[in-house]
Amino acid sequence: MTGETTLSVVVPMYNEEAVIDGLVARLRPVLDDLHVDYEVVAVDDGSRDATVALLTARARDWPQLRVVRLRRNSGHQAALTAGLHRARGRWVVSLDADLQDPPETIAEMLRLARAGAAVVYGVRADRSTDTFFKRHTARIYYRLMRRIVGAEVPAQAGDFRMVSREVVQTLRRLPEHNPVYRLLIPALGFPSAEVRYVREARHAGQTKYPLPRMIALAWDSVANFSAAPLRLATWLGTGSFLACLALMAFGVIGHLRGVTIPGWTSLFVAVLLLGGVQLVCLGLLGEYVGRIYAAVQNRPTFHVGSDTADDRPTGTEHRTADARPVAAVRG
Ligand code: UDP
Ligand code: MG
Repeated sequence: MTGETTLSVVVPMYNEEAVIDGLVARLRPVLDDLHVDYEVVAVDDGSRDATVALLTARARDWPQLRVVRLRRNSGHQAALTAGLHRARGRWVVSLDADLQDPPETIAEMLRLARAGAAVVYGVRADRSTDTFFKRHTARIYYRLMRRIVGAEVPAQAGDFRMVSREVVQTLRRLPEHNPVYRLLIPALGFPSAEVRYVREARHAGQTKYPLPRMIALAWDSVANFSAAPLRLATWLGTGSFLACLALMAFGVIGHLRGVTIPGWTSLFVAVLLLGGVQLVCLGLLGEYVGRIYAAVQNRPTFHVGSDTADDRPTGTEHRTADARPVAAVRG
């Protein structure tokens, strides 16, 4: 794989042993039929199952398959980052391992990219194979994100997209921590195009995005693009201040009228309310301060343990040349 690589296909994988054979069987003919020089960058995100062993075995008879291993599970977006940084192609397409994104779409993406689109989004025209819960949380997510980030964020465009080398270079230069690519890339404003596709059912295995990870992604999405939650603290504070003014008036009137108020209930409620509001505000501040702290620490988001395309051993290096800074607050 020396020469010019036209296309890199980045596939993050976390415990995906069940889908690898299906993926290779379907992806390889599609890529071979493109008649371009390509590489498949399979990023093993610290899997604990046979993912690496299977990939290594497949790579023996598929020279274009490259296996990049992260030392530990760093999350989908960090695995994507590793793939983007390692990819050498003129165009880079990211694809889920579970065949929910049909690889056949890549041909159309490449056509549009060659016609001048720096970004080609895969837009899910139909998600009827997703669960009810996933579909509805996704709808709310995209609606909220289009409000926060702007209408240039295509609804229902996940991480199945093709970007040009220029976009990859721009992304690599950004000092962003916990990047959420589906929002960050539209925000860059490169000329773009869309390809609609029908989201298929997971080929095999279980989702690697349980609810806590979905929530973490949603919170990263909001916090990366908006300081509005901090303003919420101001509103809560104002609201509770007004409520306390009303309580004060109530107390003074009661005092003047000579009604003896036992007092305990109102005091208790006021203390609880104020305490609660203050804790919420402190928590919000803490979230952002935590992000600033992580940015200052400037740790890489991922550690590449090995890359089959590297000649030099990377076994002991701590910070690879292309590792990007990372937040310490995410596991
Ligand atoms: N993934 C990863 N690291 C993680 C979680 C997920 O690399 O910590 C990969 C996973 O192997 C898959 C992709 O991210 O290729 C999307 O995950 P999944 O298909 O489970 O998410 P869903 O489609 O259910 O949202
Ligand atoms: Mg999936």
